[in-house]
Amino acid sequence: VTLPPLDASRRLDGLRAVLAEHDVTAVLITDLMNIRYLSGFSGSAGRLLVLPDDAVLVTDGRYGDQAAEEIAAVGAPARVLVGRTQAVQREHLAELVSSVERLAVEAAALTVAEHEGLAAAFHPDLVVTNGIVEQLRDRKDAGEIARIERASAVADAALAEVAHRLGDGIDERTFAAELEFAMRMGGADGPSFDTIVAGGPNSAFPHHRPNDRRIVEGDLVIVDFGALVDGYHSDMTRTFTVGDPTPQAERLYAAVAEAESAGLAAIAPGVRGESVHEVCRDVLARHGLAEHFLHGTGHGVGLRIHEAPWLTPSSTDVIEAGNVVTCEPGVYLVGIGGVRIEDAVVVTDHGCRAVTRSPKDQPCLPSPRTT
Ligand code: ZN
Ligand code: ZN
Repeated sequence: VTLPPLDASRRLDGLRAVLAEHDVTAVLITDLMNIRYLSGFSGSAGRLLVLPDDAVLVTDGRYGDQAAEEIAAVGAPARVLVGRTQAVQREHLAELVSSVERLAVEAAALTVAEHEGLAAAFHPDLVVTNGIVEQLRDRKDAGEIARIERASAVADAALAEVAHRLGDGIDERTFAAELEFAMRMGGADGPSFDTIVAGGPNSAFPHHRPNDRRIVEGDLVIVDFGALVDGYHSDMTRTFTVGDPTPQAERLYAAVAEAESAGLAAIAPGVRGESVHEVCRDVLARHGLAEHFLHGTGHGVGLRIHEAPWLTPSSTDVIEAGNVVTCEPGVYLVGIGGVRIEDAVVVTDHGCRAVTRSPKDQPCLPSPRTT
């Protein structure tokens, strides 16, 4: 099944408009995800210089042909310049910026050493900026949404294929590996992050790393995972109970499910990220569980697994149509276990639509075999 092509033909102009607001006409992009977004280039080394009437990707000998192909595939109006050594690449850049007076750089993607190197090598004044490409990236276009939806569908199918294994007395590490294998066989380029499988007491730790503990009857099991498709991530969490749930597990599950539904219902354009978090927190507070909700409610998903906008208590972000965000309230009780339920949604003109579709209403799996 083919995905619609990505279209980066207008993104560089979008960035130039943002630069104008900063009173700058040129920027050196050093964040590899931002380079990928603007040019299609997916390699591990390169810098993208954006000038008023030109955009030049400077990379090394490994990537010259790949970069040209990838740039053409997304229709980005950019060209490639190869420098076989760092010194030659720096010379290329210095020449290109020789007529630039003020050059913007990305604060979050430049080390102090690199900043000093640029300041010494280039004559323009360096203007430090924050999030100038990220603010474009948070509204996804059709090609991006298609990739996130594909990644989500691959993850859904993989979970449906292997979920029953949790009733086999399997250990966390093996289950995580089987889930990741199923995603790869289903078309994922890989997992979108290290799969979290947390059973029994381990589920009380939101980012537990899977270990050799076997899943046993009575466990709550948190499975948080995603697939990577053509650079784009998916993100979903389901919590299972193995065998009959205890009354306490049922109570925790019902509270988190209610919080998640309320959070999803609150997600719409114009809503502050902080407000969605408050909605989830208020539901959990009514169940006496607010102090056990240990993290923010959600985050954007795209080229990075965690990106803007943020649905957290300290967020100043406002949700917009085209955002892809997660809603993932959870509660964690040390010695007992935890529950987290997470979906990713595309924000539409009036609300949102889920891209993760695995069932949530039947979290119970058969008891592990005892023989
Ligand atoms: Zn997740
Ligand atoms: Zn998440």
